[in-house]
Amino acid sequence: MSLAGKTAVITGSNSGIGLGVARELAKAGANVVLNSYTDTAEDHALAAEIAKVTGVDAKYVQADMSNGDDCRRLIVAAGGCDILVNNAGIQHVAPVEEFPAAKWDAIIAINLSSAFHTTAAAVTGMRERGYGRIINIASAHGLTASPFKSAYVAAKHGIVGFTKTIGLETARDPITCNAICPGYVLTPLIDAQIPETMKEYGMTREEVVRDVLLARQPSKEFATLEQIGGTATFLCSDAAAQITGTTISIDGGWTAL
Ligand code: NAD
Repeated sequence: MSLAGKTAVITGSNSGIGLGVARELAKAGANVVLNSYTDTAEDHALAAEIAKVTGVDAKYVQADMSNGDDCRRLIVAAGGCDILVNNAGIQHVAPVEEFPAAKWDAIIAINLSSAFHTTAAAVTGMRERGYGRIINIASAHGLTASPFKSAYVAAKHGIVGFTKTIGLETARDPITCNAICPGYVLTPLIDAQIPETMKEYGMTREEVVRDVLLARQPSKEFATLEQIGGTATFLCSDAAAQITGTTISIDGGWTAL
């Protein structure tokens, strides 16, 4: 299927899943707008590389997804947003009584409130152009919980509820809103947790991957960037036009347990 002529804005896309989704949407022909809070030569080079490889228009727009005004500015700076992928996210792990309040606020702002601001800014243009796809990158933690991840689990459950609400609000428009719920995907966010867990439990890297990270993922395999990006591309297709207000798990069976 071709997404030629569509513009996709992917928040938090200079790394990991966001970058993977941007690459897959660009391969399908969509022009892509990359984003993070930094503004480095490497950030802009990523957009240039995608443009070169795929032939689509690609640009990088700096905007901090912890700031509501910046979220809305991103959509304006994109110059049109047919496909919105709310992906930016951070993690912090601590028991609730020790959880720093500033970390709680940052996780709720970046992982949840940013999607409210970008969606609010994008939806009118989608209605006017007669096509819109809002894809929220939630998590298996949007459907189940783990200890010590109170803010992350709250934000991800929140985004699943937000997804259902926007699905209903846009049900009579040619717009859909869905959440992708990945299990573990080996990205910098996950990779960064491995050394600390190795130290904490005296485990090898392989043991941490098998017995900690993939403990709840029955397939015992990480989901891949291509699988997340391919599912996002499918959600942009006509075949997915009646899929709205729901979640799609890509978690090797985690949430079937
Ligand atoms: P990552 O750390 O590789 O990517 C996170 C992205 O968000 C980066 O591009 C980062 O620059 C950006 N970001 C962080 N703070 C930002 C801010 N204030 N403003 C703008 N951008 C900001 O992590 P990832 O694993 O690719 O995670 C991406 C999304 O996928 C997150 O929402 C995460 O919760 C979700 N997710 C990841 C996994 C996994 O196993 N990796 C599983 C389920 C869900």
